[in-house]
Amino acid sequence: MNAATIIDGKAIAATVTDRIAEATKRFVEETGAPPCLAVVLVGKDPASAVYVRNKGRMAEKLGFRSIQKTLPAATPEDDLIALVKDLNGDPSVNGILVQLPLPNHINESKIIELIAPEKDVDGFHPINVGRLGVGDFEQALLPCTPAGCVVLAKSARNGDLSGLNAVVIGRSNIVGKPVAQMLLKENCTVTIAHSRTRELETVVRRADLVIAAVGRAEMVKGGWLKEGATVVDVGINRVPAPEKGEGKTKLVGDVDFESAAAVAGAITPVPGGVGPMTIAMLMSNTYIAACRQHGLTDLEKAAR
Ligand code: NAD
Repeated sequence: MNAATIIDGKAIAATVTDRIAEATKRFVEETGAPPCLAVVLVGKDPASAVYVRNKGRMAEKLGFRSIQKTLPAATPEDDLIALVKDLNGDPSVNGILVQLPLPNHINESKIIELIAPEKDVDGFHPINVGRLGVGDFEQALLPCTPAGCVVLAKSARNGDLSGLNAVVIGRSNIVGKPVAQMLLKENCTVTIAHSRTRELETVVRRADLVIAAVGRAEMVKGGWLKEGATVVDVGINRVPAPEKGEGKTKLVGDVDFESAAAVAGAITPVPGGVGPMTIAMLMSNTYIAACRQHGLTDLEKAAR
């Protein structure tokens, strides 16, 4: 039986954040102030609150300044618009992230489009989406989860994805579409599969690299994979775990880890794979945004 290499997202994320922490010291020497990330949370969604807290903690750990603005769920859209405009206009703020989802009465696209593209560290602004589309990585801020997937895939392939058949399962704006474009930039031959794809198993079996971003627990089975494939599992699904006790749950990915690990060459675990990379890439984006805003091209390269 093949024993797949487990791609250690935590360790790889730590190498990224260590590099940024080092580079941040030089940034502070150069500019007199650290990069600053502002995170805005509207409402009390428990999962969002945990994400926001983790982002703030990581920013501080790396030596950034971290601002957290928490607004009540009933905040009028105009108040959020005013806050985003304030943050856009504040030269000491380098990165702005409005935690999604927003309450139903607030138009998400409107808010995303309001964030200054050069401060859009989530990479969701149409300007950044367009820059990714045309391959302008010099100016784009890239969305964090897909960028993290590419780093993980490259780590398993000696840094080179060129010529690989990549199959991305999922076509969301947050993961599937942007990761497909990033893989094109890495010279992969890319197929995007989705809910209407016919004979998904056959499509997946052609892949040297599989990125699963579906949101369906353990959907991709080992039997679907080509021997030796690299598998990056983006899915985060909470499922019952009676083995841990009554009413207990656990997190699993979109890939059936056990059967897949028997066939794959390398695979990311859930948790401990893509998740830690997402936050590391957010820190990377904040650092890059800060360097660009100060015209520090050499320092920007230190984050890569
Ligand atoms: P989404 O619901 O927006 O998109 C899911 C995609 O899967 C759709 O494009 C759909 O066409 C496709 N799909 C659905 N059923 C399918 C099927 N049976 N066969 C093939 N394709 C199918 O989800 P998303 O926002 O892209 O997230 C996907 C998963 O990744 C979720 O589990 C989410 O929690 C997780 N996620 C993780 C991170 C992280 O940091 N690790 C970040 C973002 C999303």
